[in-house]
Amino acid sequence: MKRNVDYIIEKGKVRQRFKLKPVFVFIFSALFTVLIISGVQYVEERGKNEKEEQSEIIEGVETVVPDFIELDTVSEGRKLEKVGERTVYLTFDDGPGEHTARLLDVLGKYDVKATFFVTCKGSDDLILREFKEGHTVALHTCSHNYAIYQSAETYFSDLNAISNRVSRITGKEAKLIRFPGGSSNAISARYNKGIMTFLTSEVERRGYKYFDWNVSSGDASNNVSTAEVVFSNVINGVDRRGEGSFSVILQHDIKGFSVDAVEGIIQYGLSNGYKFEALTEDSPVTHHRVSN
Ligand SMILES: [Zn+2]
Repeated sequence: MKRNVDYIIEKGKVRQRFKLKPVFVFIFSALFTVLIISGVQYVEERGKNEKEEQSEIIEGVETVVPDFIELDTVSEGRKLEKVGERTVYLTFDDGPGEHTARLLDVLGKYDVKATFFVTCKGSDDLILREFKEGHTVALHTCSHNYAIYQSAETYFSDLNAISNRVSRITGKEAKLIRFPGGSSNAISARYNKGIMTFLTSEVERRGYKYFDWNVSSGDASNNVSTAEVVFSNVINGVDRRGEGSFSVILQHDIKGFSVDAVEGIIQYGLSNGYKFEALTEDSPVTHHRVSN
């Protein structure tokens, strides 16, 4: 108000004020900018602190990360989900092989039971050890040659061969099976159109239970060759929903790098509220959609 009066009355001053105005504008703008920047910084800092507090809670309560894995590989949102009782079924196909003994050592260290879908390869001793140490010895295939899908006869003759091997070693008839390539495999169509549609019901009719998987470690892919990637695929793939949810994980114990990932997977699971179990005839089944 007073300035307005000065402005009107004193012409000299008016001019002077007029000259000074850009300076004031500059100073005010500078102050304003500084204020805005500090405001933004404050808000950012607050956000960062809140985030840090959250991750401290998460790390303290539910996350153990093995040495080779970066926290970032497990997405923030997933880490935040609530812990309930969830089951993980570790399953290993195509063995036994040269890495199986080492795998059994790791499983034994944590008293974790797993499921082995075995073939006619490897030593009897390893299958016996799997059995004696409380794991489920299940049937994959004897030859693991996709030509077994030529007909029901060729398939069952191969299945009988591995079944006989397991019975001879363990003294127990195995009833859990996994199809080479899974029930959804399309490779079988090269040998026999519609064979999987037939076999998936025929095996059940013959008293077997077949299991696919709902988490793939990717260890059979040519693009995956490290324990880090296997770990990451498994951890990002496990079912994080509440009680009753389950994850059937596909790995191969003939792959050393995949076996290398197991200890980290177990540590992560145990400290995040998962329990590990071997598949039994009463376990929930995961079936793929049959495509042939
Ligand atoms: Zn296989």
